[in-house]
Amino acid sequence: MSRDIKLSLVVPVYFEEEVINQFIKEVVEELDILKINYEVIFIDDGSTDNTVNLIKDEAKENDNIKLLELSYNHGKQAAVTAGINYSKGEYLIYMDPDLQDPPKEIKNFIVEIEKGYDLVFGVRKQKKDSLKNRFFSKIFWSVLDKYTGLDLPRGLAVMRIFNRDFAERFLMYKEQNRFIEGIFMHIGMNQSVIEIEQRERFAGVSKFNFKRKMNLAFDAIFDFSELPLKLAVRFGIFLALIGTLALFVILIVKLFFVDFQPGWPSIFGFLILSLGIQLFFIGLLALYIGRIYRESKSRPLFSIKDTTNI
Ligand code: UDP
Ligand code: MG
Repeated sequence: MSRDIKLSLVVPVYFEEEVINQFIKEVVEELDILKINYEVIFIDDGSTDNTVNLIKDEAKENDNIKLLELSYNHGKQAAVTAGINYSKGEYLIYMDPDLQDPPKEIKNFIVEIEKGYDLVFGVRKQKKDSLKNRFFSKIFWSVLDKYTGLDLPRGLAVMRIFNRDFAERFLMYKEQNRFIEGIFMHIGMNQSVIEIEQRERFAGVSKFNFKRKMNLAFDAIFDFSELPLKLAVRFGIFLALIGTLALFVILIVKLFFVDFQPGWPSIFGFLILSLGIQLFFIGLLALYIGRIYRESKSRPLFSIKDTTNI
């Protein structure tokens, strides 16, 4: 007999052996208090530490704990998509296992979404982040705000809840490069935010180094904005105008005032400059074309190696 599942927790894990047990303990405690039919779907994103074994052990004791193993490291965005794809709950909460977003917030999310929203984002009450991270996230968010038209709430936490209908809409997005928050905003519907507590990562280290964060930022900008392309056109027009004007001025001066011989170094300089600018914008075009190429193959988003309790 399958009972209807009220809540699915979708949790991507990648080398998280140090936090798994504590996460399950806190989450299950909380859900038992709330007396909700739940499932916790872990998506292992190709960890080679003890993460999978620990989850399997827990899954033996409690069949609400489920595991989806991706065949290699696909990246968090694909892992989350896989988890949503296999979830059955009326509501879905997506959270990380590192306990930065505390499980005791689950009930606040449920209270808020039951007011009739389709999606509720958690935003951080207070931000525990290094100065460097804060600096870059400030730049990231202001670029995003200005150039993508995605009006994302500030200080987003990872944890969020959405309903089945919203999940089904999400799964209709087949793009390979996925900036999940962008897709959520693109879906629209009735959205709300609640403030949640933030804690330090319980144990282990962040997998998002600077390079991965930059890649995510590029995904967000290139997938949701054509501004770089428009800038290229505008800049091209601007340079062409300057060039025409300069030629005109040189011609006038030469014909009516002084007969000078312009030096080759300046010509050489401008040549290199314009070559550089052209290459830059050709490169920009290539970035978009690369994305088109990737999308056009429409490969499956994830490959699943094994499942437990699913
Ligand atoms: N993660 C993943 N695949 C990856 C990298 C990370 O599934 O390739 C998961 C990771 O296990 C964690 C979540 O994504 O559950 C967020 O990562 P982390 O906590 O390291 O990042 P931060 O909170 O510092 O941004
Ligand atoms: Mg984290």
